[in-house]
Amino acid sequence: MSTIFKKIIDKEIPANIVYEDEDFLAFNDINPQAKVHVLVIPKKEIRNLDAATEEDALLLGRLQLVIAKIARQLGIAEEGYRVITNINGNGGQEVFHIHYHILGGEKLPVTLK
Ligand code: AMP
Repeated sequence: MSTIFKKIIDKEIPANIVYEDEDFLAFNDINPQAKVHVLVIPKKEIRNLDAATEEDALLLGRLQLVIAKIARQLGIAEEGYRVITNINGNGGQEVFHIHYHILGGEKLPVTLK
């Protein structure tokens, strides 16, 4: 089932987009947990890492390189940042379209989401 992130991909609802290419989109989190908090998603609808298959291997590998590229573009790479993906209930996943949080721009506490 489609989520609010699909609507952002389709430009049906606005988002502060920081990166877009044919396969990926990145935008500022609406409820930032750090000075820089960007969500990176593939345009392909995959529920989460638990639902990914072998077919997604290349896409998800490329996604990691895109995350690193975006972090460099945001100017946070050298000082450092954190990448998180939440999976299902215990992981705290709220939006069931696979996404990776980029958190940075400041020293992060160990327990930050
Ligand atoms: P998760 O808990 O990992 O599923 O994270 C979902 C994230 O999506 C949360 O950090 C929300 O603040 C963020 N979020 C939800 N709706 C939007 C939106 N319309 N635009 C930007 N971020 C959103």
